[in-house]
Amino acid sequence: MDTLARLYPEAFTGLAHENPLQLLVATILSAQCTDKRVNQITPALFARYPTARDYADADPKELEGYVKSTGFFRNKAKNIKACGRTLVDRFGGEVPTTLSELVTLPGVGRKTANVVLGDAFQTPGITVDTHVGRLSRRLGLTRFRDPVKVERVLMGLLPQTGWTAVSHQLILHGRKVCLARKPRCGGCELNTLCPKIGVKGLAKKRKRRKKVNDPSDRGANP
Ligand code: SF4
Repeated sequence: MDTLARLYPEAFTGLAHENPLQLLVATILSAQCTDKRVNQITPALFARYPTARDYADADPKELEGYVKSTGFFRNKAKNIKACGRTLVDRFGGEVPTTLSELVTLPGVGRKTANVVLGDAFQTPGITVDTHVGRLSRRLGLTRFRDPVKVERVLMGLLPQTGWTAVSHQLILHGRKVCLARKPRCGGCELNTLCPKIGVKGLAKKRKRRKKVNDPSDRGANP
């Protein structure tokens, strides 16, 4: 983790925001979408809907138009509007500050909640997205695929003060180096430390190497 901290010293969310509500909305929009794309549309969105009540009262079609280019826009717009309504009705229009409250908001799972907690409220949280899950397995930190189980394992392994930063560092490393299909192990600074669990092609190579080194595989020709 020291290596990751050195590689990505300024690990924070790439989603532009100025307050917890903006981060919450941007994080909902970032599902299946790049931060870059989300950042392109949020200035106009945030200007049009500055408060939770604005989202709650939004015309669905108009809201869909603002978020269209982020993909899955109907569902996202529906969740953002419902989220605004819930914030107004149950939380006085403010974004709640605990995980248990955040996950009750429409469209908000543990992943989104932990992003908001870590980056808007400086409450440490481990965000397990596709990158964090994949890297955790390749690095041999866990075998679990269930994000909640991965989150629990990482919480047990890492100091609480580093949870938010490590999440961002793993996400950045997953995007830049430890790519899903073709991890760039040759140029990876974690190469000597990483067991590369499940990295495609490696399992075959390992088997081949074992066969060459294992006398029991050599039959009558030792
Ligand atoms: S060595 Fe390969 S598998 Fe391990 S973190 Fe680096 S890129 Fe990923």
